Amino acid sequence: MPRGGWGRQGFRAFSEGFVRLSAGCGVAKVLRAEGAGRAYGGGVEVHLVPCLKDNYAYLLHRPGSSEAIVVDASEDAPVLAELERLGLTPKAILATHHHVDHVGGNEGVLARYPGVKVFGYRTDRGRIPGQTDFLEDAQEFDAAGISVKALHIPGHTLGAVAYVAEGAAFTGDTLFAAGCGRLFEGTAAQMYESLNIKLGALPDDTRIYCGHEYTVSNLRFAESLEPNNPAIATKLAWAQAARDKGEPTLPSTLREERMTNPFLRVAEKDVVAKVNERLAQDRSPQAVLAAVRAMKDAF
Ligand SMILES: [Zn+2]
Repeated sequence: MPRGGWGRQGFRAFSEGFVRLSAGCGVAKVLRAEGAGRAYGGGVEVHLVPCLKDNYAYLLHRPGSSEAIVVDASEDAPVLAELERLGLTPKAILATHHHVDHVGGNEGVLARYPGVKVFGYRTDRGRIPGQTDFLEDAQEFDAAGISVKALHIPGHTLGAVAYVAEGAAFTGDTLFAAGCGRLFEGTAAQMYESLNIKLGALPDDTRIYCGHEYTVSNLRFAESLEPNNPAIATKLAWAQAARDKGEPTLPSTLREERMTNPFLRVAEKDVVAKVNERLAQDRSPQAVLAAVRAMKDAF
């Protein structure tokens, strides 16, 4: 995705609607709904900032306030440019995990705005540049006038955190639209708990903002597991059309993920059947998730 190819126009067009899949009678429907770049919930705007090849940083602010939160400063230049364009001053950087494509811009943002607080999980001390705040699971804090709750969601890395604010969850590389991150440090059991228990406790209409634009390839894999799932087919067609126009496919919602994401569907008969040969004695949902993850690694 070329920088600058993501015009404001694209966001505006996108903000008019995104796919919402309704569960009724097994037929997925595409409904118009409020989307990115708009005020929602208690009134926080979320701006997507495409970075690097397919990363997203996010800027959050209350309408009328010039104070902002940066989620995952992947690289400094596009984040600083978008802050300037919107007239925003960052007060905090929230790091979902320590990988360089999520924290590579921290020092550049700090150089321009000294004193910005940098939040990350407590065990990521020394791995997140500029980290000032070392979070516990379920810790709540305020930044830029926005209340945020951190959920520790290990699996992709051991220090991975989701940030939940105003009906939105910023899930980094743990929960993607229609996928999950690779198990670089954690176990399949940890990833199962992070996705299905911790994030799984959030309401259906929680908006999911993840770290990468992987939606189309993730849905292709999901479709290979569940070729008869109409929600997957519908969302894949929509996501492909969005990408063809250079538009983001995010946010998703937890409802959509429960209908399309194989890693949230490890108890589904069709999914279990697809990995049957890979399962030994252990047929637990955690073992199914491990098998699905291994298949995705080779997809
Ligand atoms: Zn990562």
